[in-house]
Amino acid sequence: METNKTRTCQSCGMPMSEAEHFGTEADGRLSKDYCTYCYQNGAFTEPGATIDEMAKKCGAIMSQLYDIPAGNAERFAREQLSCLRRWTGRDVAVCRSCGMPLLRDEDAGTEADGSLSTEHCTYCYRDGGFTEPDLTKEKAVEKYAPMMAANLGIPLARAEEMVRQYLSTLPRWRG
Ligand SMILES: [Zn+2]
Ligand SMILES: [Zn+2]
Repeated sequence: METNKTRTCQSCGMPMSEAEHFGTEADGRLSKDYCTYCYQNGAFTEPGATIDEMAKKCGAIMSQLYDIPAGNAERFAREQLSCLRRWTGRDVAVCRSCGMPLLRDEDAGTEADGSLSTEHCTYCYRDGGFTEPDLTKEKAVEKYAPMMAANLGIPLARAEEMVRQYLSTLPRWRG
């Protein structure tokens, strides 16, 4: 398994970059899909958990970390969770530039030959190239943070911190 690649826990959405973040399979190998809090010895630690319970739990953590009003944090957590394999039953790719889930064909960008991209969304990538090829990570933070601040009802500085951390997990911006 490539441990040098950050993966997202497909149950709670936690980014996993170090070996100790990963859960374990029944044979002791590291799980490539689930984190150590969600998955141990080949099974979910809370097998009966529902997406709503998970959203409450993750929302509470986010609310604390970023001072997000609890209701907003829970709604946001639920949106994030609804793209993960444990809750959808399938793998949903996320845009490697902005993190948008590619749920439907119309969400996907296009390659030079007109086929749909499996890696980038329609806002970031068209005809085989980035729509904003000169975008830097810091410019991306400036671009996305105001939307995040408005969506979550948090100060802009907090939203910038959140977006910056999130973008660091995406292949386009990983240093
Ligand atoms: Zn997890
Ligand atoms: Zn995108």
